[in-house]
Amino acid sequence: MSILSEEAIRMSNERTLGGSVAVEAFQLFRLLGFTSLAESLGAVGEERDQMEYLAGTAIGRSLVRQERVQGENLSQLLDSFKQFYKQMELGLIYSELCNSGEIVVGIEECAGCHGTELAHRAVCYVEAGMICGMVSEFTGEDYAAREVKCIGGLGDTACEFVLAK
Ligand SMILES: [Zn+2]
Repeated sequence: MSILSEEAIRMSNERTLGGSVAVEAFQLFRLLGFTSLAESLGAVGEERDQMEYLAGTAIGRSLVRQERVQGENLSQLLDSFKQFYKQMELGLIYSELCNSGEIVVGIEECAGCHGTELAHRAVCYVEAGMICGMVSEFTGEDYAAREVKCIGGLGDTACEFVLAK
């Protein structure tokens, strides 16, 4: 399964650079881009986190709308997300659908925060929002995600998100 349209593949073949963005470049835009955008709008602290989360939500919803991530059911959707994430070299996804109705999604080697300075708090608001937006768009229900483990922020071995309605 290709995540790119034929047109996008043709265009990327005409480029000199490779198909995947370097992790360092992604981190630069992910961390500096989103954070400075929020800060330039006057958002700091929790408000900035919330803005990053909302931006992530929009990304997650469009991943489903554009069928870059898809499936017949939730478990296939998460599988498709895992493939997408690996293909983009953004991290290694694991997930679990709990009997309680909660969904656990983890990112090992998370490109968003891997190697960043320890913040002593979870920092992956973009990723939390993205996973939440993706699942909400797919199920048509409103989920919320919170990050319970964070590699860069808390020194954990993975970034882990718990989603609940
Ligand atoms: Zn994290």
